Amino acid sequence: MTGTSVKLSKISKGYGTSRVLRDISLEVNAGEFMTLVGPSGCGKSTLLKILAGLDQLDGGLIEIGGETANHFRPSKRNIAMVFQSYALYPHMRVRDNLAMPLIMANLPFAARMPVIGGLVPGTSAKRRQISAAVADVSKTLGIEALLERKPSELSGGQRQRVALGRAMVRQPGVFLMDEPLSNLDAALRAQVRTELVELQRRLKATFVYVTHDQVEAMTMSDRIAVMMDGAIVQVATPAEIYAAPADIRVARFIGSPPINILPATIGDQGEVRLFGESQSLRTDLMPGDQAQIGIRPEDVIVAAQTTLRSACSPHEGRIRLIENLGNEVILHLYIGGDKQTEVTARLPQREWSAIREGSSDPDLVSVGLSPQRFIVFDSTGSRVRTEEKRDSKRLEVVS
Ligand code: ADP
Ligand code: MG
Repeated sequence: MTGTSVKLSKISKGYGTSRVLRDISLEVNAGEFMTLVGPSGCGKSTLLKILAGLDQLDGGLIEIGGETANHFRPSKRNIAMVFQSYALYPHMRVRDNLAMPLIMANLPFAARMPVIGGLVPGTSAKRRQISAAVADVSKTLGIEALLERKPSELSGGQRQRVALGRAMVRQPGVFLMDEPLSNLDAALRAQVRTELVELQRRLKATFVYVTHDQVEAMTMSDRIAVMMDGAIVQVATPAEIYAAPADIRVARFIGSPPINILPATIGDQGEVRLFGESQSLRTDLMPGDQAQIGIRPEDVIVAAQTTLRSACSPHEGRIRLIENLGNEVILHLYIGGDKQTEVTARLPQREWSAIREGSSDPDLVSVGLSPQRFIVFDSTGSRVRTEEKRDSKRLEVVS
């Protein structure tokens, strides 16, 4: 089984007067794990259904394996779809659920009939091939022991695997998955996540995977397409999406705890100004423009009071809340002249213990915001290029 490429060009779709998809263009390489991620209602399922041929599009071009597929019936698209609800036949054993797509595709109606079916020439050879395909897929997924059970006798994870097996038996070039893990509990979800990635690597199949869960998107994908309001905002590798979000909505959506956004302005020299102080960072924005600074919680430097020294003065942070996760600590802080600006910091637990020991006041810390870590957006939320000023000094903790 090898994957097939998919190319979507300017796909549009509306229901009544509402535009659900606006000029969606996306190329998925053969064998790639592409994730469509975005908040609920942004149009992910609609796009997947259009790609599968289960829904009509208003405009645009679908190419599968380099061939225009707009007018292909779902069964001719070399695609299999796995839904959130597994949609297994409840009255059939797992074995028959797995065989059904092959029976429908390969046996004519008469051959599917009991008793008479055996009289149709070639039927028994085809049935043997189907049994072999079912055995093969069951082995790949480790569900051989479940073949005689009914869906009601399976756990959520097992049902999910059978649904996957049913998609696999026809050896499609492209797998479409719509939130396939969302019915599983957290522990199982993490396990199946890694299993799915391993399976995709082994099959070398093309996956178009839909989720609203940014952790799934970050951990599973070769590339991520972030969707907002019916449009694709950014397509990039997980690392790029995290470090260089193209848009403030992407920055906010990816990362947990979420990125900090601080209001800023642009000074006379084009430099970024935060809390009224010039930072050693220039942009192409005009003096007087409004801007927004994004800084990830792990990039917020926390130190015991007074031990932080820097070119840009450290901020006094008042602790609002401490979340101890065991290995790390998430601090919710108020900073800024009026102590009204909320900032979240994230640091290893051991570091936090040391800071606590060195502090005289348990409610106060020093907070460093290093301009090298700033992701700057303009007032509309588009990321802008930044350049460090040459004379900038790095923040340092004095030991
Ligand atoms: P997602 O999967 O990202 O949560 P959907 O693709 O299911 O989003 O839906 C996108 C938008 O289209 C939503 O606002 C939804 O209400 C609307 N929508 C989806 N299906 C229909 C339909 N059959 N008729 C009318 N509106 C629909
Ligand atoms: Mg959906």
